Formats: sequence, C-alpha cells, structure tokens
Amino acid sequence: MANITGWTGKLLRVNLSTGDIKIEDSMKYNKDLIGGAGLGYKVIFDEVPQGTKAFDEANKVVIAVGPLTGTTAPCSGRTNITSLAPANPYHAVTDSHMGGNFGPWMKFAGYDAIIIEGASKSPVWIKIEDDKVSIEDASGLWGKGVIDTTNEINKIMGKEACIAAIGPAGEKMKNLASIVNTVNHSAGGHGGVLGSKNLKAIGVKGTGAVHIADGKNRDWLDLNKYMLGEIIGANNNHVVPSTPQTWAEYHSAGSRWTAQTALFWGAANPPVETGECPPGDLNKVGLRTQKAIFDLGEVAEERTIKMGGCYSCPIRCQSNLHVPELEKYGLTPYATSTCINFSTPGTAMLNGYSDGENKGEVALITKCLGSRLADDYGVWSNYGQLHRDFRYAYNSGKLKEVLPKEEWDSIDWSLMESGDPGWMLEFYNNLIADGEFSHLLDGPYELDKRWNLGKDYWTGSGNNVWSKMAYPKHHSNEAGAQVGALINTFFNRDCNNHSHMNFIGAGLPIELLKEIAGEVWGSPDALDAPKNYTPMNEYKAKFAKWSIDRNMLHDSITLCNWVWPMTVSPSKSRNYRGDLALEAKFYSLATGIEMSEEELDLQAERITNLHRALTVRDMNTIDMRNEHDTIPEWVFDVDPDMKPFTEGTVKLDRDDMQLALTMLYKEYGWDEKTGAPTRETLERLGLKDIADELDSLNLLP
Ligand code: SF4
Repeated sequence: MANITGWTGKLLRVNLSTGDIKIEDSMKYNKDLIGGAGLGYKVIFDEVPQGTKAFDEANKVVIAVGPLTGTTAPCSGRTNITSLAPANPYHAVTDSHMGGNFGPWMKFAGYDAIIIEGASKSPVWIKIEDDKVSIEDASGLWGKGVIDTTNEINKIMGKEACIAAIGPAGEKMKNLASIVNTVNHSAGGHGGVLGSKNLKAIGVKGTGAVHIADGKNRDWLDLNKYMLGEIIGANNNHVVPSTPQTWAEYHSAGSRWTAQTALFWGAANPPVETGECPPGDLNKVGLRTQKAIFDLGEVAEERTIKMGGCYSCPIRCQSNLHVPELEKYGLTPYATSTCINFSTPGTAMLNGYSDGENKGEVALITKCLGSRLADDYGVWSNYGQLHRDFRYAYNSGKLKEVLPKEEWDSIDWSLMESGDPGWMLEFYNNLIADGEFSHLLDGPYELDKRWNLGKDYWTGSGNNVWSKMAYPKHHSNEAGAQVGALINTFFNRDCNNHSHMNFIGAGLPIELLKEIAGEVWGSPDALDAPKNYTPMNEYKAKFAKWSIDRNMLHDSITLCNWVWPMTVSPSKSRNYRGDLALEAKFYSLATGIEMSEEELDLQAERITNLHRALTVRDMNTIDMRNEHDTIPEWVFDVDPDMKPFTEGTVKLDRDDMQLALTMLYKEYGWDEKTGAPTRETLERLGLKDIADELDSLNLLP
C-alpha cells in the first residue's frame, strides 16, 4: 500500500529476553483484521504455542489500536491489549481495554501496535520517543504505585509523554491486576503478565500525526458534525434525559444523560451549570454525562470539578472530584473515575456506611478512597467480582476459616463493622500484602480451588458469577433475555460488551425500540420488554451475533463500545433512528479504502471467528457448548415461584437456552452440536491457515 492513511503501517516488537527491538510491517494484519483486537488475536495464534500459560516467557502482550485511533473520530481514544489471561482456568486469550491517551500517543510515535515478548531478568521500563526506543532500568521504580511510577517517568520523558504502568498487584503477578495509563485509565487482567516479564511501565511520546485519506478533510469534518449534531447521545448512548426537559419528548430515570437546569460542576471555579443539552447543540455534548452524580448521588454535585475523558471523546464520562477528606489517608484531595470504579469499592462495606446513607458523604469518601487505591495498586476488580468474593467469603465464614489466626487478628475489622472509610485502606493493603487474604486476587476459579467456596458460590444468584471461566455476569439475562445470556457465554472474561445494552438501555419507549429492532434484525421479536420475555427466536440470535461482532469491530478499529454502535439517536426529526453505517464511513475516510457496512461487519465476523478458534485451541477441545458456553444455574432457578416467560421475572428456561446456543451457532456457521468453527466457515472468512492449524491439532468438528 503506497500511501497508508489511518494506520501508521508499522508495529514495534520488543523482546525483553534478548533486548532486540524491531520495527515491522503492520499492514499484513490490518488489511483483513482491521487492527486492535484483530491484530492481537492473529499474533497470539501465530506466535504463542498451544499450552502456553499466561506467566510463561513464551506468552506475548499485544498492545494494538486501529485506523481511527489518533484521528478525531468521536470516542476513538481506547486501547486494546491482547494476551493470555491468568484468571481464566485455561489461560485462554482475552482483551483488556484502557481509555486515556496511550493508543493515540503510540500512533503519534509511529506505531499501530507494540508486541512485547520474552521476559527481562530484572525490572525494566520501555521508553518510546518516535523511532528512538530503549529498554531502561526500572529497579528504582519496582515497588512503587502507579502514580509515583507515572510521575517519575514523566520527569524523565517530559509531561507530554503518556505512561502505562503496573502497580504492586501486577508486580506480584496477581491474576486480577491491571495496566493503568495516565494514572486513572485501567485495563483489567493483564497487569500480572507484565509483572511476569519484569516490565514495570511503557512511556511513549511522538511527534507524528495520524492522517486521513487525501482530499477527505471536508468530508471528515462534515461526518463529525453530522454525528455530533444528530446521532450521538450521552454515555452508553442513552438518548433521552433522566428528567423531563423542555426539548425532550421522552425521559427515563435510568438514563446517563444527567444534565439539566440548575445542575452544576459545583467545585469548578466559578461553578459551571450544565443546563439542558438538547440535540444539535454541539458545544454541549460533553456536558450531558455527569457520571459521578449518576454513581454517587447528589452529594457528588458540589464536589465535581469537571468531566474529563479519553482522547477525542466528546462524551467525557470521566468524573473529576475534589475530595479533601482523602488527605487524611495521605492522598491528594482528588478522585477520578470512569466506568464502575466509583461503584465497586462500596461492595466491600458489608455493614454499610457510618452515616447510614448509601449515597451520602461517607459513601462518597469511601468509594473515592477505594477507587484511588485500586488504580494506584493496579488492582482489577473483575467487574466488581473481587468485592463480591470478599463479601461471600466473609459472610459464609470461609474467610475466617482460611486466614491464619495471626493474619485474621492483624486486620482491623472494626473499620468495616463501623462503616468507616478507612476500611478501604485496610482492604486494599491486605490485598497486595503477601498473606492469605491476597488470594482474593486469584479470581473466582483459582480462589475456589484454594478455599473450596462450595456450590452456593457458583449457583447463588446474588453472587453474580457467570461461569467457571472465572468471570461475573455483565449485562446478561437481565439485558435482552437470551441475547444478553448468549453474549455472556462467548468471551473468556466478563463480556464487557455494550452493543446490545446501549440499545436496550437507551431510554426510548419499548414500542419504539421494538420497531427499530425490526428494522435492524428482521423482526420486533428480536427484543422483549424488560422482565417480560418470550421464547428464543432466530431474530434474537441475529441480535446476539451482531452485538458480538460489533464489539469485535470496536475493539479493532478502535472505538469505545461504551458509546458505539449508533443504533438510536436523540433526534426526534430522525424518529430516533441512529446510523449503523457510521463505523464504515469513518473507516473509509480514514483509510481511503471504500468499505460498506456489510463489508466491515464481515471483517468483524472474521475476528470473532479468530477469537473462537483461539479459544478452541487454548482449551484443547471443540466442545464449546458443554465446556465453554455454560450458563449458571441461577439464571434458571431465580424466582422459584415463577415460571420462565411470565411477566415479572428474568428467569430463563434450560432447554430454551440450549436452543438459543444452537441458533447462535447456526448464525455463525459453526458446528451446531459443539459450537466450534468449521473448516467451511473459516475458509469462507479467509482463515484457511487457522483451519489448517486446528486440523493439525485435531480440533475441527
Ligand atoms: S465514553 Fe468514556 S470511556 Fe468511552 S471513550 Fe469516552 S471518555 Fe473514554
């Protein structure tokens, strides 16, 4: 490709065993697999032998982004990390994802991807300044938290560098450890893999730019304007406000479009009123989402300094708060969060908060303290399962049974019992200490093996564990019935998939959503009203497949699946219809390669199949139906007095879910008995080499 745009066309390979640093062609992956996750899966399939474990020297870490990263496409600032996952029982491949600036900075330095291989004998960090790349001594950084590490490297490289680092959890090779860039944007599950390679951090800065195709500047600007003016909503693409407003036909209390008249960033100087932010006002898109107020309640309003976010994202879902009470714990008086980081720490407060309020001041201080410690120590909550595991182990008496008496007595339980925020310090310090308590960071599968948590741990509905794959539910049967359940079975970690949820939770009336479902997936029956489910049908299978494939597309191109895809819009003039061809339009303008929506979806389907093939290979079985795509008992046993498919329950039916799996396999062209990809399907998608490799391992159905 003579004139590469969108991509940089180069990847950086750093071998920590030999010290070799190479620059290679990235287009051999990008052409058919887009980039990001697609590139990552191919590298892992080709270069990491079957049977490799996450902490083995032979495992690799692929940090990769797609052609939209570093452009001004809305919500294109996220970074994909692909590697074997230590928390997964089979150490099967997973992606972790971080927002912030790392991916764009990597592109500005000239790289679509960084492949890290081998392992250093002593602690190191990687310094990248355009084509000047070096492996630096990190012995003085080892043992430090993410914040100090970031500050130290910024002193060396300058404040303009973006630093991704691990904390003590990663250094100690904990299964639930994260990689954190820009101090607060974390990717969960691969921090321990960097620890196993003695890699403390990567600092990157570049002087280059990401170019779009020649002559397309005006089209690019127009497309951005169209998307911001007519299509995009708030966080999770919620397209109605949470309160009645002058411009809005609909509102929904659960919407993340929190902005309203007399709502302020109270800690800004002077305070900033969000006001109403109607569609069409491009300057107010970034004020719609007020995540701290959504998560922590009204008490967060007077503490909100501003909303921040990832590179090139108009949604700004990152809350920045002023919390002077944190100084009592030796921290600076600020707290910052995207996603669930303000929500999960509170789950470890088993007796609630000392003021008796779940959304009061003490809860806010507690959650902000927990959030700061999780980021600084590089602890991954496994979508909140870490804290639920603690709750389960404590309440069942298991924790007292397994902790040595001396360790149990050394923990100040009175802080938790009295609802004191200081419990967060006690909780996180013990997680990264070397005692038995720290095994909570093993993740559900290894923790059960070690502590023998019992059947109730896996089957109890309040505990939220989805499967022995060691992850919790994430928008599952409560989100589109069989659709959410199918999506939760597919991945090797919590599914972290919002393609379906952004649509289901958009806030529009169900009749309207069903109309749109009919247009996108062939029938209004693709979507059920909440807690009023119907048996499985082929349109739900199409909805589930589309959701998985769009998630793969976003992790490859790279766009934030917490907002994309644009299935609906806030515009009454469009009758709330979104634009599902937008990804293809941005791709075409960035790369200069004309790509229709259908063609890009086919590329995404190829990436999904690559993920599936890797899972078959990592697990060394084709029996995905029984070994991988399992559904927890609580999905079928919840609400014991109610039957499935009656109004008021999210309960599903066992036989119906087996039918759902068969229908999904059929949509993908996979073997309907096992759920494994067939040679015919892999070859249809241009993956003959993958089929040949699986064949040689006797892993084709
Ligand atoms: S919506 Fe939030 S997480 Fe997604 S790109 Fe924007 S700021 Fe980042």
